[in-house]
Amino acid sequence: MNEIIHKKPIVFRSNVEKKSKYSDYRDDLRVDFWYSCAYCSMTEDEACGIGFEIDHYLPQNFHPALSNDYNNLMWSCQKCNSLKRDYNPNDSDTEKGLMIIRPDNENPSYHFKLNYNKLEGKTITGEFNIVYLALNRMQLQKLGMIRKKFYESSEYIKQGIKSIASIKIDRIDKKNRFLFEKMKKHIIERQKILEDPESVSSILKVFGKSELIDSDPEKRKQLKSRKNYLKQQRAITVPKL
Ligand SMILES: [Zn+2]
Repeated sequence: MNEIIHKKPIVFRSNVEKKSKYSDYRDDLRVDFWYSCAYCSMTEDEACGIGFEIDHYLPQNFHPALSNDYNNLMWSCQKCNSLKRDYNPNDSDTEKGLMIIRPDNENPSYHFKLNYNKLEGKTITGEFNIVYLALNRMQLQKLGMIRKKFYESSEYIKQGIKSIASIKIDRIDKKNRFLFEKMKKHIIERQKILEDPESVSSILKVFGKSELIDSDPEKRKQLKSRKNYLKQQRAITVPKL
């Protein structure tokens, strides 16, 4: 059973055409990674739209040839990216399983199980990732609690929808039947959405996204006018943003 999960990645990369620099892949990565961190799974929205970056799975310092290779780029929250740093396992590390899990290669749930709000490693790789990326940090434990409540309530809502959809019309008072039929039709449409994995995927993508970190079309213009303004003010050096 575990073998089957192991082989099923949860991130599928789109066929993206070659771009001149790695930062140009930003929006492709956001979509392909469900607007979520590749390592801790926090969504942009859960992170309140701050602190997401492009990570080089194999670090640029050791693998410069892969610097602009889409398959080597991951969408990561700032915290995971700073903890991962330039981790570059050698053959012996890889053999021992001391490698960072990539969700476009395998399913992380093969390596982890959830015990209340804490992750536990099911494999050496799982244990290594929990420690190396601090996957039981307080922020992620709290996030786990919020998600749990959300999933429990969505199950509750699904049950409610099912029971309303199964009510027979002759049990409804005659004067309310028209209204009931209308409501039932609406509810059944919603039920179809909840049961269709494709629809659920697109809903999840919408919920994970934070518009706060969408590319800023004005950025280049703003940087230029900032630089000019600071030069005019005789600032000796222009601090980087
Ligand atoms: Zn993260």
